[in-house]
Amino acid sequence: AGASRGNSRVIPSAGRVLTPVQYGAVAPGGAWWPLNNGDRGSYQVNRIYPTIQGEGAQAGRAMTIVRLQGCPVGCVWCDTPESWSVWGGRYLTADQVADEMAALPPRWALVTGGEPAWHDLQSLTEALHMRGIRRALETSGTFPITGAWDWVCVSPKPAGLHPLVSDVLKYADEIKWVVGRERDVAGLEAFLEEHKSVLSSRSLNRGPFHRHRVVSVQPVSASPRATRLCVEVLMRHPD
Ligand code: SF4
Repeated sequence: AGASRGNSRVIPSAGRVLTPVQYGAVAPGGAWWPLNNGDRGSYQVNRIYPTIQGEGAQAGRAMTIVRLQGCPVGCVWCDTPESWSVWGGRYLTADQVADEMAALPPRWALVTGGEPAWHDLQSLTEALHMRGIRRALETSGTFPITGAWDWVCVSPKPAGLHPLVSDVLKYADEIKWVVGRERDVAGLEAFLEEHKSVLSSRSLNRGPFHRHRVVSVQPVSASPRATRLCVEVLMRHPD
């Protein structure tokens, strides 16, 4: 994350000084974790809205997105910088989040951010499950995964400020790689080679789709150039 300042830490994206008292323990990536250590049953929520998933293996599925506040990863092409700050949005309990989602038509919840795994998500996944809502997680893989999930998508951000927590890949049903330039394709191919033993094994996530591990590519902003690169890499790796 950002530069240390004595016994606190600066998150460059949010420009805030965070103290150990606020953030509890230290995650493998070096940031304080979890964000909601003071009350692990509550969350700083940026937005809740229903949509049709437009990316990856779940494309076309109606889902309600809950975007949690806070991300220290700092991707240069991030399309949701409004979610980087650990402040803002609404502070809601897991039951309040789940009640809002249950009132909307989709029967799937997509928990994203920000970086949702910066929070302890156990309470939220339990509250959603109690209301019969399936739970999908989208994470950069830079924090440990908490909670029980029907689908886990890890989207590594190699240019980000936090390293991947390698164990997280074992729980991924889907690995989604963002492609904008040629070097992203080279990065994907190096990643596939480096992690081929994990990628060829079954996901440890015990959701209903855990037999299938998928690698998806996502063209940045669906630009023509990025889309062409994605098509090319899929043609080279049809499996
Ligand atoms: Fe944005 Fe996601 Fe990267 Fe965080 S991990 S900076 S929310 S793209």
